[in-house]
Amino acid sequence: MSEMMFIDPHVHMISRTTDDYQAMRRAGVKAVIEPAFWVGQPRTNAGTMLDYFSWIVGWERFRASQFGIQHYCTIGLNSKEANNEALAEEVMELIPRYAGKESVVAIGEIGYDDMTKLEEKYFIEQVQLAKKMDMLVLVHTPHRNKKEGTIRSMDICEAHGMDPSKVIIDHNNEETVEAVLDRGYWTAFTIYPGTKMGNERMVEIVKEYGTERIFIDSAADWGHSDPLGVPKTAKLMLERGISKEDVKKVTYQNALDAYGQSGRFNEEDWLNRSPIDQSETFGGNTILRGGHRPLTEEDLDKPGKDDDLIIE
Ligand SMILES: [Zn+2]
Repeated sequence: MSEMMFIDPHVHMISRTTDDYQAMRRAGVKAVIEPAFWVGQPRTNAGTMLDYFSWIVGWERFRASQFGIQHYCTIGLNSKEANNEALAEEVMELIPRYAGKESVVAIGEIGYDDMTKLEEKYFIEQVQLAKKMDMLVLVHTPHRNKKEGTIRSMDICEAHGMDPSKVIIDHNNEETVEAVLDRGYWTAFTIYPGTKMGNERMVEIVKEYGTERIFIDSAADWGHSDPLGVPKTAKLMLERGISKEDVKKVTYQNALDAYGQSGRFNEEDWLNRSPIDQSETFGGNTILRGGHRPLTEEDLDKPGKDDDLIIE
């Protein structure tokens, strides 16, 4: 097992397999945050969103715990689906009910996709809700017109009284990093394999901008992505001469400090978690299938195919 501890503060585990949980555990990932987002297929009614919210505060949190990983989430109406006004109106009614639950660490991911009027309307409404509920905000920045969308997102947060220290701006790149850091926001980067923010580029960003308020995530989901993005990038940073202390900041400590402000994201949760018992049930169901025997902590820690990742 890896000696270093990691947090993946943005990963869509409902799209991933138990093999991913096992590999993440062995690579040292202790906690994950699952932001509510688009599942790839547009939702046709608010009922599917209600089930989705229940899923990420319920079963998915349980499933993660069966591999020794603490699971948290954020709750929000995503920017893409904000463009369906009838759906958006109904989903907005559901959000306060879920946002108050114990594993929910922020309102998110919200922001712009195409920068439409409706996206802006629901972005503002959700920022106002976060203010009212005294919650953090996780902002998804658009893949197109990234710089403009990022600046406008920060303008909106400030216009509606959000303290930048309570806002995480995610999916940054070389174009946005300076503006986001300068304005006092948590500046998160997604490590996308092959494209966008690859881990090679991330090493250069940390070398150039340091480690203050910067952290990384995998944003792994149903698309081409890598749930081991955080430990793999940590390994590359160490190989490229970044100190262990700095690597810890961008792969663990800063995410802990940012989301720790919610009061619901505490290191003790994973340092003092109870031992895994895979015969436990949630709503009457276990994670066991096809007569599989429950794996113990010892089984889960046996060497696996990704163990070249392990950092001693
Ligand atoms: Zn996401």
